[in-house]
Amino acid sequence: MTIGYGLVALPLPLAQPYTYRIPETLADRIVPGARVVVPVRQRELVGIVTALTDTPPEQSARDILSAPDAEPALPEALLETARWISGYYGAPLGLTLRVMLPAAMWGASQVIVELTDSAPGGGVAGDIVAYLARKGGEAPVATIARALKRPVWDAINRLARVGGVHLRVEAPETDAAIATEKVVRLAEVVPTLLEREAGLRRSPAQRAALEALEELGGSAPLRHLVEQMGLSRAGIDGLVKRGIARVEEVESQRDPFRDLAGTAPPLTPNAAQLAAVAAIDATAPGDGVLLFGVTGSGKTLVYLEAIRHALAEGRGAILLVPEIALTPQTVSRVRGVFGDQVAVLHSGLSDGERADAWRMLRRGERKVAVGARSAIFAPVRDLGVIVVDEEHESSYKNGEAPRYHARDVAVVRARLEGARLVLGSATPSPESMHRVGPRLTVISLPERAGTQPLPPVELVDLRSAERLPEAGPLPWSMRLDREVLAALSRAEQVLLLLNRRGYAATLQCQACGAVRQCDRCSIALTVHQSPPGLRCHYCGRDEPIPAACLECGGAVQRMRGVGTQQLERFLASRFPAARLARMDLDTTSAKWSHQTILDRVGRGEVDILLGTQMIAKGLDFPNVTLVGVIDADTGLHLPDFRAAERTFQLIAQVAGRAGRGPKGGRVIVQTRNPDHYALTTAAQHDTEGFLRAELGQRQSPPYPPMASLVNLVVSGENELGVADAAGTLAAWCAGLVASQRLTVDVLGPAPCALARIKLRWRWHVALRGEGEVLGRIVRYAANRLPEPRGVRVIIDRDPVSLL
Ligand code: ADP
Ligand code: ZN
Repeated sequence: MTIGYGLVALPLPLAQPYTYRIPETLADRIVPGARVVVPVRQRELVGIVTALTDTPPEQSARDILSAPDAEPALPEALLETARWISGYYGAPLGLTLRVMLPAAMWGASQVIVELTDSAPGGGVAGDIVAYLARKGGEAPVATIARALKRPVWDAINRLARVGGVHLRVEAPETDAAIATEKVVRLAEVVPTLLEREAGLRRSPAQRAALEALEELGGSAPLRHLVEQMGLSRAGIDGLVKRGIARVEEVESQRDPFRDLAGTAPPLTPNAAQLAAVAAIDATAPGDGVLLFGVTGSGKTLVYLEAIRHALAEGRGAILLVPEIALTPQTVSRVRGVFGDQVAVLHSGLSDGERADAWRMLRRGERKVAVGARSAIFAPVRDLGVIVVDEEHESSYKNGEAPRYHARDVAVVRARLEGARLVLGSATPSPESMHRVGPRLTVISLPERAGTQPLPPVELVDLRSAERLPEAGPLPWSMRLDREVLAALSRAEQVLLLLNRRGYAATLQCQACGAVRQCDRCSIALTVHQSPPGLRCHYCGRDEPIPAACLECGGAVQRMRGVGTQQLERFLASRFPAARLARMDLDTTSAKWSHQTILDRVGRGEVDILLGTQMIAKGLDFPNVTLVGVIDADTGLHLPDFRAAERTFQLIAQVAGRAGRGPKGGRVIVQTRNPDHYALTTAAQHDTEGFLRAELGQRQSPPYPPMASLVNLVVSGENELGVADAAGTLAAWCAGLVASQRLTVDVLGPAPCALARIKLRWRWHVALRGEGEVLGRIVRYAANRLPEPRGVRVIIDRDPVSLL
């Protein structure tokens, strides 16, 4: 008899899978993709079988303890996708598999044995059955083994085989649903500005609480205010005592997607949309189309039709969106059309809910998966189509190992499973545009679906434009002011983009010029006013706003660089009758807060929505007739090869929110660089023109997609040690390149633009060359990079940024 062995990948940063012996009782369940429980030192861990072998390992192998699922957890195609990710990005296979399966399915080692009706008696099995019966029908394996003082796995596996018991791997920690929670709500009659100044002057804590509540739309869970926003309980209690706010016990907010009926667009596709759908149908399985459709051209309907066709063939679909919270409209349309066939995978799900959704997809009870980045791993059965909406978004790139890009994984998975791929965008990435060829064809939707054309975009030169004096440091031109007044007077809605959160970007002493920096990160602290503090946007550290300069004691401290909080304050005084809503990271940290704000805009309860890039994506509000960009230059001069690309995409996308309804609309973009090609092309809605210019820029020196990049980032707490390690790494790479005669540039070592984050100094070495060659280096280097003590090296292949 041959003894089989299984290679098992564990959710740990291990270079290789471990080898385990397959006990006879489990032989038929141990197949690639199966979830197993294995001993690792003194623990039991869940792992995934990646391959079988007859070759015994050098050291004696331990036994696989259990295989809890009747069907392998991962289908072959997903396992193959994992292998590709692991090889391409140089990430351990186990870590890759860990992001593929829901957290609950890795449940540490809590294997629970449940008794069924048909349990036989006798021997060890009989003792186990008797024990379980005494314990009310179920118990963890570890507990049974302790109670019976002998190994029990073998007997349990035999019992499971005859259906006498059922094995379940317990989720590590599921956030049990909290039934009710305390919510702080502002009273209907809010104090006037004067009363507030008089009453709250001596209580900054109360004032901070009041401002935070106003910002969050008048109410927020108490826990959120105290735990996440760091407001003092005393301040909130003070407001309640004064009658300005009250605390209510309400049923806690449930997943708004769960019962969302969804609104179906009762639309018949227009000619361009029909042509697009036909082109998708005509695409060979495994190949793709780049749906290049201007903002408002009705790409969503094309996605829905493509999905409908897949379902009609009895196949399933995945729809990826950049961020679920920001795209409630898309989600609701998909729900409206496909109802219960849809599983929405979003970050608000508890571990248990996520695992449930996963199982329903795996069993084929749900056929369409909608979600952000990681939904590319949804175990949809017989995948017919993968749609990647806003394919240019950088949020599709994972920020930790495995550093995969969901769009690129989609390309691979579509090929492996014979699914059609649809990449959609109004502003396609240079990468996708460059990839256009026999296996990726372009389909364009050059016009908006409705009757309205794309809105005119006007660039206002901030260097010369007349400004409203009252606006002080805020760049606010008379031109924009007039348009906002006009839109408000017509009861239309306004969107204002300022891509910088907080009150001001920096605080600088007027005497010595010192700018207050984070002492853990090399970055200036941002001034916040609600609640007040200097905050680090990298590590979240917070310190009080100093009354005087901490370096020289100088009394005059100047704020520079306007943020959304300051914009909001200005708008409140300039347009006192307008109802404002602000959307940025600070106002959306509570669960479902995006949804709440966007619902209010949709119901017409908001006149001006201001915010960061969050307001630039997929929103479709017909009454928005004016979009203003306060400062188009915030990201234009970042030392990164994607600075122009990001600026173009942001401006073009936010401009696309204007004039979607019958009233039309216009866009005002304020800038100090009105001649920059990113802005001139955005103003003309000229994505092709932008890409032509940008691809030209990236010829020489070559940057993606004209060359491939691998960014090796070296970090550690010791500055000299990191610089040293980066030098060694660069020399190592150069040696490898020379010895193998590869045509690869080794760039650096150099300090990263963000030289320090969370106490860790950062240097990098970049490799540039052909993708295929870099791929070989990555695979070779993955487990061999020189990594001295105290220093970490990460491999970032196809980086979305070099900061
Ligand atoms: P995109 O995602 O391309 O920016 P959307 O899919 O959000 O555009 O569609 C823009 C608007 O046009 C939506 O309000 C949608 O309801 C409308 N629309 C799309 N297709 C049609 C159609 N065939 N007939 C009428 N209206 C349409
Ligand atoms: Zn910091």
